[in-house]
Amino acid sequence: MKVWKYTLSVEHAGQRVALRMPKGAKVVHVGVVNDAWSIWVEVDPDAPLVERTFTVIPTGFVDVPEGGVYLGTIIAHGGFVWHVYEIVPQAVASGETRVRMVCKSCGNSHTVSKDATVRWNEFLQKWVIDTIHDQPDCCDICTDTEIEERPIT
Ligand SMILES: [Zn+2]
Repeated sequence: MKVWKYTLSVEHAGQRVALRMPKGAKVVHVGVVNDAWSIWVEVDPDAPLVERTFTVIPTGFVDVPEGGVYLGTIIAHGGFVWHVYEIVPQAVASGETRVRMVCKSCGNSHTVSKDATVRWNEFLQKWVIDTIHDQPDCCDICTDTEIEERPIT
């Protein structure tokens, strides 16, 4: 086993960051190095890589993400206090089927999007998603399309 350091390249609070790390990796410390949020992880370097998702949220702003598992707290410059969470998908945790959003017409998943309203957050100095609208669904390739949920097998 070794300890590796990963940087959480989070541009705004609540943003999710996917990191590839050896399977079974265990987070042993969170902190800040040269203003970059970082985590130290005990790994078996020979294990196959898997993707894991993390986020950083400030005290008092941004909800704890669904499926969020608390890892630790970072006290940054200016007295700001940040909390690091790993997001463990509920579906995986409970054994439910996960879904992929695809365009009903062309079947692509990377081309579909939804409209959302963002609101300016003065504390974070960032636009933060407030509402994800039900309509319209949009595919970059097709026009007049719908998004369909398909189980990931
Ligand atoms: Zn399409």
